[in-house]
Amino acid sequence: MTDESSAGRVVILSGGVGGARFAAGMADWVPPEALTVVVNVGDDFEPFNLRVSPDIDTVCYTLAGLENPETGWGRRDETWHAMETIETLGGPTWFRLGDRDLGLHLERTRRLAQGMPLSQVTRAICQALGVRAQVLPATDDSLRTWVKVAEHGWLPFQEYFVRHQWRPRLMALAYRGATRARPAPGVMEALHEAEVILLAPSNPWLSLDPILAVPGIRSVLQQKRAVAVSPFIAGRAVKGPAAKIARELGYTATPLSLAEYYQDILSGLVIDQADAAQAPLITQRTGIPVYITDTWMQGPEGRRRVAYSAWTFARLLASSRGVEEPAA
Ligand code: GDP
Repeated sequence: MTDESSAGRVVILSGGVGGARFAAGMADWVPPEALTVVVNVGDDFEPFNLRVSPDIDTVCYTLAGLENPETGWGRRDETWHAMETIETLGGPTWFRLGDRDLGLHLERTRRLAQGMPLSQVTRAICQALGVRAQVLPATDDSLRTWVKVAEHGWLPFQEYFVRHQWRPRLMALAYRGATRARPAPGVMEALHEAEVILLAPSNPWLSLDPILAVPGIRSVLQQKRAVAVSPFIAGRAVKGPAAKIARELGYTATPLSLAEYYQDILSGLVIDQADAAQAPLITQRTGIPVYITDTWMQGPEGRRRVAYSAWTFARLLASSRGVEEPAA
């Protein structure tokens, strides 16, 4: 669709698995110096006084080719001796941390305790893992997702997500600390310089909204606009609770609902071919142009394909504002 050799900066807003796969697909098209991934930190927490940043880790491991394809989190070739010891000693084991993964959390915690901000620690981790794209936490400040559920009231995110395996009925969300949070160094610069900004097919409420809650980020997107890839395919989420949460919050698990939800920041939406019938309604109701394709990121080829579709569609929209019917 477009000339790859003249690619400008690409910024992806990302959660964990869906975002990481999408970013890895994009890394096949865009040179690393032109790719920035702004990652959710709302899931971060401190088991055993260690700082764990699950989405940043999934993105870094995936870009480094070290992700664990079976679990969707943590590292491949993992062993679990530390967890076994904790279990023997009667400690909490509901949040599983593999031995190799633990090493990273130990070192991140040590550097943070020395006063290094999370963005710098993340840069050092990326360098050590051979990740050349820029991976940035949305903020270096404390921002934590809390959820209000029917059964237990307010819970910190990981209690809901891992301990209760997202079974409780979600009623409300809060991104604690967000109003005081500042975008991490480099985030606003990358957004301002971006040729295209993409919302990965990540969970809107658990991954994208905490990023957008950092003051300044949403307003850049309102000016510059982004292209999103729907995490919903045929009324379901490919993985995780996005469809369940959509229903619990009074939305539907559809690209149309997503388009309406992010209408103020979207210039385009990539939807799955299974949802093709919704395309006319999306554009009619929201004015957002739609690109229909196979959005299933199966294997490296699937990631590459979806990333390419979103990227070229976004470039087309950016270069020719007012195009109503992009070539499919
Ligand atoms: P988490 O933080 O690990 O939950 O990861 P994300 O929020 O980044 O990604 C979770 C979302 O990714 C889910 O809502 C999935 O529906 C979506 N997702 C995962 N794989 C795919 C895929 O292959 N295609 C599409 N369209 N969405 C996907």
